[in-house]
Amino acid sequence: MRVSVFGLGYVGCVSAACLASMGHEVIGVDVNQTKVDLVNAGRAPVVEERIGELTAEVVRTGALRATRDVREAIRDSEISLICVGTPSEPNGSLCTTYLERVTEEIGAALAERGGRQTVVFRSTMLPGTCLNLLVPILEKNVGGTAGVDFGVAVNPEFLREGTSVRDFFDPPKTVIGELDPASGDAVAELYKGLPGDVFRVQVPVAEAIKYADNSFHGLKIGFANELGAVCQALGVDSHQVMDVFLADRKLNISPAYLRPGFAFGGSCLPKDLRSLVHAAQRADVSVPILAHVLSSNSAHLQRAVELVERTGKRKVGLFGLSFKPGTDDLRESPLVELAERLFGKGYELKIYDANVSLSRLIGANREYIEGRLPHLAQLLADSVDEVLEHAEVCLVGTRDPAVLAALPHGGGPAIVDLVRLPDAEARRAEPGYMGLAW
Ligand code: NAD
Repeated sequence: MRVSVFGLGYVGCVSAACLASMGHEVIGVDVNQTKVDLVNAGRAPVVEERIGELTAEVVRTGALRATRDVREAIRDSEISLICVGTPSEPNGSLCTTYLERVTEEIGAALAERGGRQTVVFRSTMLPGTCLNLLVPILEKNVGGTAGVDFGVAVNPEFLREGTSVRDFFDPPKTVIGELDPASGDAVAELYKGLPGDVFRVQVPVAEAIKYADNSFHGLKIGFANELGAVCQALGVDSHQVMDVFLADRKLNISPAYLRPGFAFGGSCLPKDLRSLVHAAQRADVSVPILAHVLSSNSAHLQRAVELVERTGKRKVGLFGLSFKPGTDDLRESPLVELAERLFGKGYELKIYDANVSLSRLIGANREYIEGRLPHLAQLLADSVDEVLEHAEVCLVGTRDPAVLAALPHGGGPAIVDLVRLPDAEARRAEPGYMGLAW
């Protein structure tokens, strides 16, 4: 199929490159010239496993190109995937500004071109956003009726950053919210050949499923971390507890997200929880469990600060900064939040993250760290050794093999372990070791 992908961020650039590698003819669109130039040069605008090679390959064969020109993209495609950001507003509500703008632009381009197009929303948005906000914008700009003159579908994305290419080709499920059967057929055709169940549902159901997923993930992490904290206080190994808890076949609970560890973050879970809770409050629905998932997460982050304080040392080497391994994404990273809290308390920090060194950062993430976190940018080191030379306490927030191999054993700097190091059992007997996740 001829596909246009609007928004070349984490979701868009992975979708575009993967669809191109499946044999579709793809044109990516972004307002950010740097991202467009990177893609056209065969480079991915984000750090993700396999995305670099994949982008280089599909750009070389001509299956993927990028532009800022909406009209050109609409002219050259029959189906459009909208992957623009939907961040939180300061009050926690969902920001739909980018969605509205891109929908207007697509509608205007469609009115000029004529002919049927299927407009597919992949961005995460609250139930009702598509039918109540975006379809009217499309109908006004196109001058036609949705489901008749053009197709509309909602197709939420379930990829996880760090393994997003793998997740694209082996999705946990494919959800298609269709306004009309022809729109659903067009989306199903796009993913033909991929494994996993396909669920064809009404548009608002598709929108809500994404919130069910993300709020449950946050809830599970919060539950595991609270349980871990209580177990630790009572001198019990929470991972052994969880091993047995999860082995109970009758409970049939997926172990995903149920390992006591560090706080969650990233560009999705916190903002999706915030906007769901905000929507519930506006609808006068009391949701005390969901409303407290983020405060549980924040309390867990504070526990990490307290562990560092307990070492009594001032020079901290932080390993890991992105919100999880395998990505350079710093948005709402709990390690960024931790670094900021320690920085604010006057600790002398040096930070190493293989994906976030100033020499490697590209595109939006470079702008993000230089624009929003210039104080942290100055603390970034290019090597593990540079941080080890500085550190009186190593604060370990990553399982990067290069970091694990270099971490000293007992007697050197104190170790504050946020990730339950593979050798945590042995280290527990060593002086200066403290773990958050046991
Ligand atoms: P992102 O911020 O990385 O990328 C969004 C891109 O859209 C940016 O490059 C921006 O320049 C571009 N953009 C904004 N306005 C545009 C316009 N008018 N025309 C063209 N491009 C425009 O966002 P993301 O992390 O890829 O997330 C996109 C959506 O997918 C969000 O709704 C998010 O909640 C959802 N989602 C994200 C993930 C994830 O892991 N990041 C997973 C599932 C779903």
